Amino acid sequence: MLEKMSDFFRNLPGKKCEECGNEIVEQYECHINLCNDCLKIKDM
Ligand SMILES: [Zn+2]
Repeated sequence: MLEKMSDFFRNLPGKKCEECGNEIVEQYECHINLCNDCLKIKDM
């Protein structure tokens, strides 16, 4: 069952961070293409 769940998430259209190229797992606002780490950096 867990494997099916990960397959489901893998099939989702992946967003990549514009800064570091990491895949963005959480869905932020559409116009933000930054991962958690880069968002934190920009906040500071
Ligand atoms: Zn990033």
